[in-house]
Amino acid sequence: MTDKILNTVIIGSGPAGYAAAIYTARANLNPVLVSGPEVGGQLTTTPEIGNWPGAKDNPSGFDLMQTMMEHAKQLGTEMLSDTVVKTSLKGEVKELTLASGKVLKTKSVIIGTGAKARYLGIDSEEQYKGKGVSACATCDGFFFRKKTVAVIGGGSAAFIEALFLTNMCEKVYLVHRREGFRAEKVLIDRFDEQVKLGKAEYVLNATVDTILGDGNSVTGVKLKQKDQFIELPLNGLFVAIGHVPATEPFPELEKDDQGYLKTGFGTETQTSIEGVFAAGDCCDPVYRQAITSAGQGCKAALDVEHFLM
Ligand SMILES: Cc1cc2nc3c(=O)[nH]c(=O)nc-3n(C[C@H](O)[C@H](O)[C@H](O)COP(=O)(O)OP(=O)(O)OC[C@H]3O[C@@H](n4cnc5c(N)ncnc54)[C@H](O)[C@@H]3O)c2cc1C
Repeated sequence: MTDKILNTVIIGSGPAGYAAAIYTARANLNPVLVSGPEVGGQLTTTPEIGNWPGAKDNPSGFDLMQTMMEHAKQLGTEMLSDTVVKTSLKGEVKELTLASGKVLKTKSVIIGTGAKARYLGIDSEEQYKGKGVSACATCDGFFFRKKTVAVIGGGSAAFIEALFLTNMCEKVYLVHRREGFRAEKVLIDRFDEQVKLGKAEYVLNATVDTILGDGNSVTGVKLKQKDQFIELPLNGLFVAIGHVPATEPFPELEKDDQGYLKTGFGTETQTSIEGVFAAGDCCDPVYRQAITSAGQGCKAALDVEHFLM
């Protein structure tokens, strides 16, 4: 493996990585996929996927990703249980150093290393992840129809999540640790309209102390507001305090101010270095869905095919 120059190496085993593997394998490129620290990616942590087209029985994230992995493997993708720790991407032959010490040499690379939602980092949050605590309203909002929820955060993403939830929830609290917001004014205005309608409410100068629950699901949240504690009864809590893209191993590539890889250099998925392509949440601060990541993985694979021709 060390001396051989591969056609393409895919970094990441989320929907972007597996979709890229399926397409490059079917194009006879003999892809090698490095799965990384979280085999199957972010979706494996969620008990139910209700928006993957065709999967109408709402499979668990783990089952869905297992099927994708088997599909990519069956087509001949070589899977490596390893993590890319260092890269040298300039020039015709790119070098990827893995945690095991192995070095892969390849003509092209598809990066699908994803992003991680920032969480609050408290014990009760960990206990209720997937049981009422979520970081994605588009993904999980549907499970809280006609229920009461809170969104934690004060940026545009928090307002977008909160507004989305007002379409289906009984009541949406927006909990923010300060008085002012970093969000776009148009979003704040739209949320204010919901407040006037009684569908939403601000809880300001408040931080989460403990997420309350009965062991199986969230029942509320204890907040510290100035010098006192208050409790809100809730069915769900959405943390919207940002995402961190997993792009540290790629210092040579151009990134935006949050660390997302920049693409669109020549083709839609090409990064700032020729022969290096990116797909999914590592280069997409906006859509962040399994289907959009898989779509970008497909595009990156097609771009690699053209590049190698
Ligand atoms: C709790 C939760 C629920 C969600 N529910 C839904 C839903 O219902 N529907 C939906 O469409 N979306 C949902 N999402 C969003 C969805 O999971 C992501 O948009 C999608 O997984 C992104 O795919 P990706 O392939 O870009 O990256 P990821 O799924 O994040 O995968 C990244 C991969 O890169 C690997 N990796 C990272 N660093 C390295 C490295 N240095 N070397 C090698 N590999 C590396 C990781 O091991 C992982 O395999 C949810 C997200 C979360 C967190």
